[in-house]
Amino acid sequence: MRYISTRGKAPALSFSDVLLTGLAEDGGLYLPETWPSFSKDEWKALRGLPYPELAARVLTPFVGSDIEGATLRRLCAQAYTGFDHPAIVPLTQVEDGLFVQELFHGPTLAFKDMAMQVLGQLFEHVLAERNSHVTIVGATSGDTGSAAIEACRGRDRLSVVILHPKDRTSEVQRRQMTTVLEPNVTNLAVEGTFDDCQDLVKACFADMPFRTDMHLSAVNSINWARIAAQIPYYVYAALNFGAPDREVSFAVPTGNFGNILAAWAARKMGLPIRRLCVGSNRNDILTRFLNANDMTMKEVIPSLSPSMDIQVSSNFERLLFELLDRDADACARIMTGFRSTGHMDVPAQTWEKARTVFSGLALDDGETEAEIKALHQNSNYLADPHSAIGIAAGRKFREAGVPMIAMATAHPAKFPDAMVAATGIHPALPVHLEDLFSREERYRTVPATPDAIKDAVRAAVLSNTH
Ligand SMILES: *Cc1c(COP(=O)(O)O)cnc(C)c1O
Repeated sequence: MRYISTRGKAPALSFSDVLLTGLAEDGGLYLPETWPSFSKDEWKALRGLPYPELAARVLTPFVGSDIEGATLRRLCAQAYTGFDHPAIVPLTQVEDGLFVQELFHGPTLAFKDMAMQVLGQLFEHVLAERNSHVTIVGATSGDTGSAAIEACRGRDRLSVVILHPKDRTSEVQRRQMTTVLEPNVTNLAVEGTFDDCQDLVKACFADMPFRTDMHLSAVNSINWARIAAQIPYYVYAALNFGAPDREVSFAVPTGNFGNILAAWAARKMGLPIRRLCVGSNRNDILTRFLNANDMTMKEVIPSLSPSMDIQVSSNFERLLFELLDRDADACARIMTGFRSTGHMDVPAQTWEKARTVFSGLALDDGETEAEIKALHQNSNYLADPHSAIGIAAGRKFREAGVPMIAMATAHPAKFPDAMVAATGIHPALPVHLEDLFSREERYRTVPATPDAIKDAVRAAVLSNTH
């Protein structure tokens, strides 16, 4: 399997190269050259498989000949050993025709673990084959950093440096990162905002000699392997509700459009998915697009669901490329225009095409809190603010006879303040994190300058590779 860029001006790469590269050289995002598809019988053969086994089978056509089948199965099995639910991705009913799939049973209690744990295994395997080392540098406002650290901790061939804005993440989120004491993990508390952190990471990647010397790599949600590793749970859910003989719909609390894009990919592979419903908070660029073809950047407003506080949904570019029938020039033109004007000029027929599959619903903080409260009262279900938004979107677009499955993306214990305000309940952290608040923390405070970050990255790499 080869991968091509949405902007058409970067070399086609294999799965392993796409894994290590992340963003394409031309600024585009990688997608498979052709979409693999499964026949009805092939879908049926996946019914009843344990989740890690199903994940390996779904990933196989994307990995191609890069990793041998038995090895891929072993890597997937290892990836999910740290999950604290036997089903890995359990399904629960909350209302008539409305179900929840919990994706937060991994080590950091957010759905990012679903893909990141697989990525950690894939990186280690590919780097061992190449006898190589990479340095993962990333910025986080919370969930991505801890998921990346958990996936990379203790791995010889990976150094991981995560920048977080000092005093601007929740304490649970900070401690999930800073209490990991393995020597290959470096936490930098940057004296600045999340945007500063992102700019500093970009500055590291833009310095070509530095990037090459340090073997920089990224695990943010534009990495194709992350999308690929999110497809299996949609397959698992759909099969449980009778696919491929029966249609299902999904509702997904959405930020960067990575999670829901994986659902779209499953549909592209032949899984009978009827509708895909985007849930947004006040940062509702996607919902505005779906409702009125209004994809206009606005300032980010902090909300109860911080992992969806985004201005631009990077992965939307992949859908756009497909909706444009893979016209890379048109895609590049529209994306460049978006960056320069802040408004994405999507042709009317392309927008109409998106609306045949996608719907969007946005909730403000008051509506989110009311949804958490209603779910608790009426269904005895505790949903964190992100998950509650997804469930609300699912309810709105549910159709008779088609199961609607909403993705629960974070454990409620990650957002205790919102849960107490809405329900009066302070959800307990799972056993493996019970002592989080008494663990030793390690991080360095650094000024928000590229030189300070590069020095810290150099020091981290030196201490890991010598
Ligand atoms: C990252 C995240 C999201 C958004 O997912 P995208 O793939 O960026 O759309 C939603 N909920 C939680 C809890 C997250 O951590």
